[in-house]
Amino acid sequence: MFAPFLAALLAPPAADLVSEADLRPHIAELASDAYEGRAPGTAGEGKAVGYIAKAWARAGLQPAGLNGSWYQPVTLVRRTPYTSRATWRARGRKVRLLAADYLLTAREAKVGLDRAPLVFAGYGRPLPAGARLDRAAVLVFANAPAALTDLGRADERRARLVAAGAAAVLTAVPDPAFAALADAQRARGPVRVAGDAAPSIEGLISESAARRILLAAETDPDALLRAAAAAPGFAPVPLKATLAAEVATRVQRFASSNVVGVLLGAGRASEHVAFTGHWDHLGLCRPAGAPDRICNGAVDNASGIAAMIEVAERLGRGPRRPERSVLFVATTSEENGLLGARTFAQNPTVPLGSIVALFNIDTLAVGPRGAPVAMVGRGRTPMLDAAVDRVAASLDRAVDRDEEANDFYTRQDGYEFVRAGVPAVMAGGSFADMGRLQRFLRGTYHGPEDEYAPTMELGGAAEDATLHVALGRAFADPAFYPTPAAAQPGVRP
Ligand SMILES: [Zn+2]
Repeated sequence: MFAPFLAALLAPPAADLVSEADLRPHIAELASDAYEGRAPGTAGEGKAVGYIAKAWARAGLQPAGLNGSWYQPVTLVRRTPYTSRATWRARGRKVRLLAADYLLTAREAKVGLDRAPLVFAGYGRPLPAGARLDRAAVLVFANAPAALTDLGRADERRARLVAAGAAAVLTAVPDPAFAALADAQRARGPVRVAGDAAPSIEGLISESAARRILLAAETDPDALLRAAAAAPGFAPVPLKATLAAEVATRVQRFASSNVVGVLLGAGRASEHVAFTGHWDHLGLCRPAGAPDRICNGAVDNASGIAAMIEVAERLGRGPRRPERSVLFVATTSEENGLLGARTFAQNPTVPLGSIVALFNIDTLAVGPRGAPVAMVGRGRTPMLDAAVDRVAASLDRAVDRDEEANDFYTRQDGYEFVRAGVPAVMAGGSFADMGRLQRFLRGTYHGPEDEYAPTMELGGAAEDATLHVALGRAFADPAFYPTPAAAQPGVRP
């Protein structure tokens, strides 16, 4: 078991080093105003996915999307609330809420809900076995105590409630956050994968309004919330209350794509090492008339795509062709909730069980050279961690062994692959120095100022790109990284 780790990793050949100058033109191009911030479904998407496919073809990859193309289609849908009329009743009497207290959005253009029973489901934790919520309008509170670790993300909570039969899911949000969120959704509704589980009606409601409904139904909101936080397996509580509603929604379906390429392995071509990174960003993110409307996404994530292009070139042209195949997936719609990654993980173009290790690459260009290698996902796949540490050491890079970076675990594309059983981490220097990362997140992140300039610091990004070339070579080599049992043909976890 330890023998593979005894094999000394040689220092990488000069041809495997990636420099700042290698990354610069890709970032300058992908983050230029011509791409209009790379929003899915826009002309900027066409430019971005075309640029990536062309670069990968030059690097010697084969297309590995749908039907021999570079692309895997992802159908997305944006639902923007338009008008709604709702009647809330508790113990047979109307509960008077203002239209500004809640916001309802329907799955289709027009949906009616006929006096659905209101059910309180706490914070949306996993339901007790067999619990049903058929036809119910389910009320959940978003602001859960930090100690609850079984919640999952909002989309996982929603999917659980829909699977149990909920007709409507109403999420209570603390009042100040509610106002901002409702305004944002009125302007532009959230984007989802078209086929994803969605209730007939989704609603946001201010916490104070939700409490008024609970009080009118003669329950004690605080006692209910305490019970919901207490132990796993909280059983939803039917309220003596109903919701009737007519909801009109602007539903816009549109097409987007993941870009998928593969470098066929010289020996074990049926096994894969995978690299993922999202090509999309926020597009036109400021209102018309603003001095700069374009969120260019230079760091997030033109820097990661630039690295994926340079990694593909090195592995495609290097002195030794990798034994295992190397899969590259540039995902769409990460910014809307990891939607392209989820689509690939649910409809993979290579068997997921053939992926021995997956490295997601996001937000590389945060700092200069010299950062230790941190890992988002450290501690979840020990065999993978130890091997990544060895590769980092072969490049004379220090390793950051604390698990601070795991705060980002569910916020990056790799998580959708972990959910599907693929061993996946995100390794690099950006997530080593939390102070620096937080300064970026509070500063230019997700704003028009995350744009390319010739002075952009790319030292850390270049070092991390070189790290991923080395990770690709090492993990494609069965003598360095044996095939995990779950990835062997015929063995399923
Ligand atoms: Zn982002």
